[in-house]
Amino acid sequence: PFGILYINRDITQRKEAENELIKAKEKAEESEERLFAYINSIPDIICYKDGTGKWLLANESDLKLFCLQGVDYFGKTDLELSEYTHEIFKPSFMDCMDSDEVAWKKKSISNGIETIITPSGEKKVYDVSKTPLFYPNGDRKGLAVIGRDISKLYETQEKLILAKEKAEESDRLKTSFLHNISHEIRTPMNAIVGFSEFLREPTIQPAKASQFADIIIQSSNQLLSIITDIISIATIEAGQEKVIESEIELNATLKHLHAQFLINATKQNLTLNLSPFPTEKENWIISDETKLLQILTNLIVNALKFTKAGSVSFGYRIQEQELLFSVEDTGIGIPSEMHEEIFKRFRQVESTITRQFGGSGLGLSISKAYVELLGGKMWLESELGKGSKFYFSIPFIKGEKVMLFGNKFQKDPAFETCEPKTLLIAEDEESNFSLLEAFLEDSNMAIVKAFNGLEAVEICKSTQKIDLVLMDIKMPVMDGFEATKQIKILRPDLKVIAQTAYSEDVDKDKAFSAGCIDFICKPIKRELLLSKIKEHLGITQ
Ligand code: ADP
Repeated sequence: PFGILYINRDITQRKEAENELIKAKEKAEESEERLFAYINSIPDIICYKDGTGKWLLANESDLKLFCLQGVDYFGKTDLELSEYTHEIFKPSFMDCMDSDEVAWKKKSISNGIETIITPSGEKKVYDVSKTPLFYPNGDRKGLAVIGRDISKLYETQEKLILAKEKAEESDRLKTSFLHNISHEIRTPMNAIVGFSEFLREPTIQPAKASQFADIIIQSSNQLLSIITDIISIATIEAGQEKVIESEIELNATLKHLHAQFLINATKQNLTLNLSPFPTEKENWIISDETKLLQILTNLIVNALKFTKAGSVSFGYRIQEQELLFSVEDTGIGIPSEMHEEIFKRFRQVESTITRQFGGSGLGLSISKAYVELLGGKMWLESELGKGSKFYFSIPFIKGEKVMLFGNKFQKDPAFETCEPKTLLIAEDEESNFSLLEAFLEDSNMAIVKAFNGLEAVEICKSTQKIDLVLMDIKMPVMDGFEATKQIKILRPDLKVIAQTAYSEDVDKDKAFSAGCIDFICKPIKRELLLSKIKEHLGITQ
């Protein structure tokens, strides 16, 4: 038989080589794992594409940004991948392909800013570097993309640029304001100084003198209104402007405004219309009369100023809980891009030196601020060359229906049976006095009037007949605090009720320490006034 042939091959070397290979593979895998761990842990986006734009590798940040987590991206182009995610990314993928092409063409590292809008509407800004790699024959091999999220930095930068632009604009506006204001002040000042000189001429004709005096008075008023505007704006900006409410008869107020501006309108050959009132009767409301008048005056003055021919109409409507005022003109109109701008301080449609209309550019910003203080809004509708319509709203707070003429109150029976009493009312404002008088018409009470604190003291000195004093606090010559003190020295048992437009506690405390027995705030309500009078005079039903 044949024997058995044993072939023994020494494979030690092969085995060793194999082991080496396994080890090397393990090492390589370990390194790759580590590399992945690194690239996945950094917040920058990383992506590697082949020469045809197919994705070979992308880190977590990149996948997260494009909402591609869990998608098998390998071997897909940007365009293909855009189908696997939110469609909002499509423009970003297209932009990315364009900028890839820039890097390929440049043949070296290319940097740029890429903006990506996310599905939540957030704007992400990336500083992206793209490095192209080529085969020795020049063919495209791969593109390494890395992008850093600079959204926060960009946002801060944008804010800084905006703040800088705003500061520059404000600076420009202030400079132009100073030019305007100095022109606005100099014009009336020149007239005042110039015409005053003429008045000194001994030979001047009386008619001429009177004409010059008119110009001086008009220029002084103009000057005063500019100064008032500047002070108003400063007070508004300092947050010091307060609302002082009182009862206003709106229809009469508007009629008065109409009469006041009718002369100017007629001189300019313009028609001034006051729209029919929504109520036939008187319409008493509670608001700040001075501010309301100032707003309407500013709007009417502007309407007359910017209208060469046609008409100016104003009026109001009652709309639910609001009073809606409007001032309309057929003037030059305002371009739409200026509709918001003109409410800003110093803003005028015409800002060149050659401007033909005077003004400081403060009127509308004051008016708007006042409307907002009163709890309303102001806006406009206007078309260039066709005219403008300014609107503003204020809350409709009904006043007590007070008819100054004729007795419209219900009689208070308590007063009918009591002894006649004498009330001293110290009040410098004629309208406020008339109102109190109307309130007390049927009260069986004699009313004595004092125009200021000193007069009130004098009256108390000269007669013992006064039974009660209603003392206004803010009065010329002598205020209510001082007058009360002096009256209490003369007649310690005479009761004084303080009345004031300010409801601040300091005033109340001051009134009590001056000797007042009670305090009543304006706008005064008839019921409250009568009940206080009854209480302090000891009148019972
Ligand atoms: P002023 O009238 O002192 O310039 P305003 O703040 O009252 O300041 O107005 C700002 C600007 O708004 C005016 O300069 C003008 O360009 C524009 N404007 C205001 N009212 C009217 C109007 N009725 N018609 C046309 N333009 C107007």
